[in-house]
Amino acid sequence: VGEQLYLGLDFGTSGARFALIDRGGTIHAQGKREYPLYKRKETVDWVRSWKQTLFLLLEDIPFHLRQIIASISIDGTSATTMILDSTTGEPLWRPFLYNESCPDALPIVKSIAPENHTVCSGSSTLCKLVSWWNTVDSNKESAALLHQADWLLWLLHGNLRVTDYNNALKVGYDPELDSYPPWLLSQSYSQLLPSVKAPGTPIGVLREDIRTQYGFAKDCVVCTGTTDSIAAFLAARATKPGKAVTSLGSTLAIKLLSTSRVDDARYGVYSHRLDDKWLVGGASNTGGAVLRQIFTDEQLENLSEQINPMKTSPLDYYPLPTVGERFPMADPKMAPRLHPRPESDVEYLHGILESIARIEAKAYSLLKDLGATQVEEVFTAGGGAKNEKWTKIRERVLGLPVSRAIQTEAAYGAALLALKGAQQCVQ
Ligand code: ADP
Repeated sequence: VGEQLYLGLDFGTSGARFALIDRGGTIHAQGKREYPLYKRKETVDWVRSWKQTLFLLLEDIPFHLRQIIASISIDGTSATTMILDSTTGEPLWRPFLYNESCPDALPIVKSIAPENHTVCSGSSTLCKLVSWWNTVDSNKESAALLHQADWLLWLLHGNLRVTDYNNALKVGYDPELDSYPPWLLSQSYSQLLPSVKAPGTPIGVLREDIRTQYGFAKDCVVCTGTTDSIAAFLAARATKPGKAVTSLGSTLAIKLLSTSRVDDARYGVYSHRLDDKWLVGGASNTGGAVLRQIFTDEQLENLSEQINPMKTSPLDYYPLPTVGERFPMADPKMAPRLHPRPESDVEYLHGILESIARIEAKAYSLLKDLGATQVEEVFTAGGGAKNEKWTKIRERVLGLPVSRAIQTEAAYGAALLALKGAQQCVQ
């Protein structure tokens, strides 16, 4: 066998990317496209935008590399929901976007689901499905539900109605039982639900018309995907329990690989399955958005350079952009605390960065208290990852090795899923 490559595609909120890797994880090609915004009546025609972007990205892959792609996988935004004709795969309705809320369905969903279940949020996939089911009165029986990633993968393989257990979590799938729960299966709309496989499972070969038009290999396999945030975690290759990724973007989000599952609605903590392990996550409202309210990115860089990260800052803040925190402190009325402000901006920033590091430490220790595996090493993603002084402060406060994740692109994580799928084909 000559060299083979593995293709991952990431469909994010504003655009899509691809990454093409080899077995060792080296990137051979990558690229990105913004979504073209076609209007249909008053709203954006996402179906057309996503579909066109998918095929533009395939064209962006250098031709000579397309022939050695063994497998493809795709991640999409979580809870982005499509209602399709079950035989043709044509959309019957405009897509429900990840952040769209269907409050009309929430009381109904709450009345059937266990208390505090992940589906009990207006933006869950299940609320979207129920809202649609109760709006439409004809052709409901021939409909099928797919998530964004499933539908894009379907365009490539043509076998309808399969998803992965990461995308299916917010429609109510139970990854521990490995089935939809009885309270969901007893609903008349449960016939719309797709079958569920592990992320990175081969589904079928690439459609022949696409293969010949674009010059892909005959046995190129299309594999199930995952959600965008899980794909980003996979990119960091934190594959052992105790390894974690802290994302220092506008907010602070942590994800820890654990041998046990932890869910706690009070803190918005929940777990995704990853083969025989659990990916436990939580998100705090603190993070880069507060820094941006006070300093420009240039100031952040200059002031950070002057910080002595070995020195403990006595300043004790709780930086929040607005009132309210969920994790690691569940308090919707919590006020931001950013005073007293010292005269020196270096000291001020040092105090803020160190306070955020304490919140991060508290977040990991809360996950442990809730039953997750103890954190051993932290990889960092997001805009804050490049701040080396902050990394040093966090190492001291967390008492753990902290480093910048080498890969953080979701497309890279999706490519790793494609690799996983190809390895299953060989076995
Ligand atoms: P998101 O995708 O969540 O909007 P990014 O991952 O792009 O965020 O990160 C942007 C954040 O990074 C900003 O909120 C900014 O405050 C923060 N940031 C930028 N430069 C630095 C720096 N040198 N040190 C710490 N934080 C930084």
